[in-house]
Amino acid sequence: MTQAQVEHKKILTAPAMLGMLGGGQLGRFFVIAAHEMGYQVTVLDPDKNSPAGKIADVHICANFDDVSALEKMAATCQAFTTEFENVPAASLEKLAHTSTVCPSANSVAIAQNRVLEKNFIKDAGLPVAPFAVINTMQDLPDDASSLYPAILKVARFGYDGKGQARVKNQAEAQKAFVEFRQEICVLEKMLPLDLEVSVVLARDAEGRIAAFPTAENSHLNGILDISIAPARTSEVLKANAQALAKKLAEKLDYVGVLGVEFFVVGKDLLVNEIAPRPHNSGHYTIDACITNQFEQQVRVMTGLPLGSPDLHSNAVMVNILGDSWFSNAKSAREKIDTLEPSWNMAFGHANLKLHLYGKHEPRQGRKMGHFTVIGKDADAALNTALIARNQLNIATY
Ligand code: ADP
Ligand code: MG
Repeated sequence: MTQAQVEHKKILTAPAMLGMLGGGQLGRFFVIAAHEMGYQVTVLDPDKNSPAGKIADVHICANFDDVSALEKMAATCQAFTTEFENVPAASLEKLAHTSTVCPSANSVAIAQNRVLEKNFIKDAGLPVAPFAVINTMQDLPDDASSLYPAILKVARFGYDGKGQARVKNQAEAQKAFVEFRQEICVLEKMLPLDLEVSVVLARDAEGRIAAFPTAENSHLNGILDISIAPARTSEVLKANAQALAKKLAEKLDYVGVLGVEFFVVGKDLLVNEIAPRPHNSGHYTIDACITNQFEQQVRVMTGLPLGSPDLHSNAVMVNILGDSWFSNAKSAREKIDTLEPSWNMAFGHANLKLHLYGKHEPRQGRKMGHFTVIGKDADAALNTALIARNQLNIATY
């Protein structure tokens, strides 16, 4: 976009009030980015201690489908976005009658339902792991099926490996299906993963796309543990991931920030899932890219031109879960507030950037913060990250 085009386009100018549905850490980083750019933010989240609500200009403490809260937001905010993929699509649709909403209710509705999501990806001609939709017990294939060993995943409300069970045969699948209260599920073939990678991109209302570099991800107990950017894999594979993510965004006519997770099996790249919001594997962009994923989210919703997604440093991001507090405990009775991880050790690394989300209560598996080590030398950054990981009591493999 030229300077003249920028001037003629309808741009929501700071200090306009932006509406954020969801008050988690992704919302908190959005508030920080918006504030730095001069905007104000109203956060809707039912938790009075939500990380984003605490630093927002206005926090409306209500459910995501609360009609009067949505009306209040519609009256004060000029554009809306979300950080939480389980926000009711109907709420986004309602807000879209009077305001700019990105991503759209339709994109969110697809991303929040594994059945719609997998069918969409497949119908768009993109590769996915073999799967079957399980509506009833009768849909679970018998032991002869090539889907086994498989993972049974609930269609709605699963995250960080929750709502998933690894099953070797029909009997195990039936047991897991009952445990999931026979909610609609997807039965997905378990793949021998060589690697997982992801691409976070921003797409604006005119269809321009700025994609961040492909990151390499490792998970622990189904939760993202480490992201390395750029991914240590072939240029061809990284470029393929970029191309597939862009194609998906275009097919969805997506406007906003989109996270796309991939599986790498041999030379094959398969789409795992999409997130209609900034993504945990894109946190490295805060410290290592010219524009970060949250600034990009602000830029898209306000009609500003996209910023450069270029990487200026190699980066290694490590998640800090509530587990770090507990593995410090010498006895179960020890008080949580005495178990704070050794932040000063982390601060001892000159190129480590620590980000804590302001959550009061550490719980096992709960994302409490992350750190990113940046540097010119990718191996040195990884080495420092692994040392800091140990110092903060982050579980070993
Ligand atoms: P979530 O919504 O919890 O992120 P995912 O479907 O991404 O759910 O699964 C979490 C992790 O579990 C993946 O990142 C991957 O490590 C592992 N996983 C999921 N599906 C498969 C599969 N079909 N084959 C092998 N590993 C898988
Ligand atoms: Mg995932």
